[in-house]
Amino acid sequence: MSPIELNKRQEEILQIVKGNGPITGEQIAERLHLTRATLRPDLAILTMAGFLDARPRVGYFYSGKKPGQDITDTMNNMKVKDFQSIPVVVREDVSVYDAISQMFLDDVGTLFVVDKNSFLTGVLSRKDLLRTSLGSQNLTAIPVHIIMTRMPNITYCVKNESLIQAAHRLINQQIDALPVVEEQPEGFKVIGRLTKTNITRAFLSLSENHEL
Ligand code: ADP
Repeated sequence: MSPIELNKRQEEILQIVKGNGPITGEQIAERLHLTRATLRPDLAILTMAGFLDARPRVGYFYSGKKPGQDITDTMNNMKVKDFQSIPVVVREDVSVYDAISQMFLDDVGTLFVVDKNSFLTGVLSRKDLLRTSLGSQNLTAIPVHIIMTRMPNITYCVKNESLIQAAHRLINQQIDALPVVEEQPEGFKVIGRLTKTNITRAFLSLSENHEL
């Protein structure tokens, strides 16, 4: 349910019900020096929007819910693990040429770089690879560890974190993807990939779950 703007009369009704509920439509009308019929549309809107509950023969009472709360709760409960993708990783010693091929083969925009023990050491973005390609160097001779963004400067997330927190990190750092990692004493194992596409998909799932 999307939040709605209340008009002055609706605000007044809300205050009356908050202070005096349960209260009948007649009684609310009396207090406002209006007829029950005049109030009907306002009461209907307040009830539909979830501000008020109505019980037959009892009257109106304040629901205690803030409209729009449902969608906020849903968003806060969305976890990284529910929306993450499979990570694509390359070893530190592969060439820039092979990393570019890998990016095309797996159709991803970000590669994660790992050492021989599969611990995260770096990140490669499209522009990292493009920048290197602009130089007239031999791309098969340059290992990716020379050009990657490396630990400890990697921004990451963990699977049980909220999607909102991860989305903040993507925006604040101005990056396209976060590795989803499992923290181990010797380093980080890469278990997933969280991208702006995943966040967009999550955003869409809200509109599918909640009729607009
Ligand atoms: P692009 O460079 O293709 O626009 P990004 O915006 O994701 O893609 O990357 C911008 C820079 O940030 C690149 O140099 C990349 O290596 C680095 N980067 C990308 N993702 C991360 C991350 N999760 N942590 C740290 N640095 C990152």
